Amino acid sequence: MENYSVIIPSYTVGPEAYKEIPRYCRLYGRTAVVIGGTKAMAAAREKLLQAVDGSDLSITGFFLYGNEATYEAAAVLEDTRQVKEADMIFAVGGGKAIDTAKLAALHLGKPFFTFPTIASNCASASSVAIIYHPDGSFREFVHYLDTTKHIFIDTNIIAHAPWDYLFAGIGDTCAKYYEVSISARGETPEHYLAMGVTLSRMCMEPLVLYGEKALADNKAHIPSYELEQCALAIIVTTGWVSMLVSREHNMLYNGGVAHALFYSLCELPGFDATHIHGVVVGFGILLQLLIDRDYEEYEKLRAFNQKIGLPVSFAEIGVTMEELEKVVDRLIVDEDVEHFPYRLTHEQIMEAARKLAD
Ligand SMILES: [Zn+2]
Repeated sequence: MENYSVIIPSYTVGPEAYKEIPRYCRLYGRTAVVIGGTKAMAAAREKLLQAVDGSDLSITGFFLYGNEATYEAAAVLEDTRQVKEADMIFAVGGGKAIDTAKLAALHLGKPFFTFPTIASNCASASSVAIIYHPDGSFREFVHYLDTTKHIFIDTNIIAHAPWDYLFAGIGDTCAKYYEVSISARGETPEHYLAMGVTLSRMCMEPLVLYGEKALADNKAHIPSYELEQCALAIIVTTGWVSMLVSREHNMLYNGGVAHALFYSLCELPGFDATHIHGVVVGFGILLQLLIDRDYEEYEKLRAFNQKIGLPVSFAEIGVTMEELEKVVDRLIVDEDVEHFPYRLTHEQIMEAARKLAD
């Protein structure tokens, strides 16, 4: 038997979540630098300063991460004196700012804390960073052994974040349940993997239950219970699940037809630039459910997508059957479907897709 460690980050959530900063952070030192995006920093700066005011913790600088999560952007931060001297790093923002700060923290060997300001992805909780080239094109995934020491989710800030992020986050997060559960089908995994598979249900259930209300509350800037539950599913549950269902640096049960569809469609000219990942993935689950002939779940999810406005047809995402035909062979070999319980065929996918044509 080999040794194996599982690290799952803790969190604080609520309208005044930052008040708990001194309690969790003082274990790691006395000074922190904040790294984030422009809007995130504007939303969080005063609250962060207030949170450490009167404590033995101090913030020694605020630094913008740049525009993309790149090695180059992280290197600039790593060379900054205050960043080098700080005991810990506070990563504030959406996915890219958080991932850049994570990269800098990893390179400098410093503990970091995450402060998601939008509910759209699991960058704050996961142990992977998505790295881009300076021109914005995808470069690679960087896997860590360590993760954030604590996640602070201020629901007042989340309630004021742009609606589109939450909308896309709902689609992407729902997919986690359907993709993980189908990837693990027929297997009897060990402790942590089994926990991840079971937990993945919590990526879907709160969103189907509270998603519509959460979207309305986000529009009205109300940090409601429903918005909080959805934010936790998107930011925390998804991060925990992805860590639990991976082994070492193998993504194992992560991924399925919804993600494979998105990445395949990105082969079509201009698709990537005009479509939002989470929205297409939220639609892609319907394709997976039809391929799998799970009509009951398909009807349920289709009704949910319609209720909140996620697409339910290829026509809605501007893709014709002819265009899909061109990328289906790419989909079949995508690493996201490597762990699919049976072999996908061209004809089987097209047959299911035609039911979703318009
Ligand atoms: Zn995704």
